[in-house]
Amino acid sequence: MDYKLKEYSKKRDFEKTTEPKPHVGKKGDKSIFAVQKHESSHLHYDLRIEINGVLKSWAVPKGPSLNPKDKRLAILTEDHPIDYADFEGIIPEGNYGAGVVMVWDIGTYKNINEKNGKLIEMEKSFEDGHIIVKLDGEKLKGGFAITKFGKGKDKKWLLIKKRDDNSESKDITKDKPNSVLSGASLSKIEKETK
Ligand code: MN
Repeated sequence: MDYKLKEYSKKRDFEKTTEPKPHVGKKGDKSIFAVQKHESSHLHYDLRIEINGVLKSWAVPKGPSLNPKDKRLAILTEDHPIDYADFEGIIPEGNYGAGVVMVWDIGTYKNINEKNGKLIEMEKSFEDGHIIVKLDGEKLKGGFAITKFGKGKDKKWLLIKKRDDNSESKDITKDKPNSVLSGASLSKIEKETK
């Protein structure tokens, strides 16, 4: 088993869930990101960003915002396999994260975290607790900062839109609630997966 996804594997029984099996690796030339809408015990969004063959993952209770004034809490969770980015369906009752998963947005990103004109590698940005990326999704576009706050093992980060041409004040999660893959709502995914 790939060591990087040990925690991911430990939490799941792949005989019971159809979620992707642990596998570390790239899918295409470009680095990807995804945001999943996940209705488990609470409705939340999961932000995932590819770094070194896995998807670094944060649970974002309120979901992302295109308004630079919004600071969205993002709680670091376990790394997910790259294949998870387009996983849409149902995690059965009794399993970790049981409920409906929708691919709310998916796309590629560019690392734009620079210091003295030089790019800081994504892995280093992650370790430093300060990531700046330019997203190119269907719904999320432009610069975003994901910044750790608090100290030590605290898993709390903030997701904040950078001010640019893609900043908007309307609520993107309400404005565009459905799957970017199928156009389906959570309830439609639930009905049609059964
Ligand atoms: Mn989740």
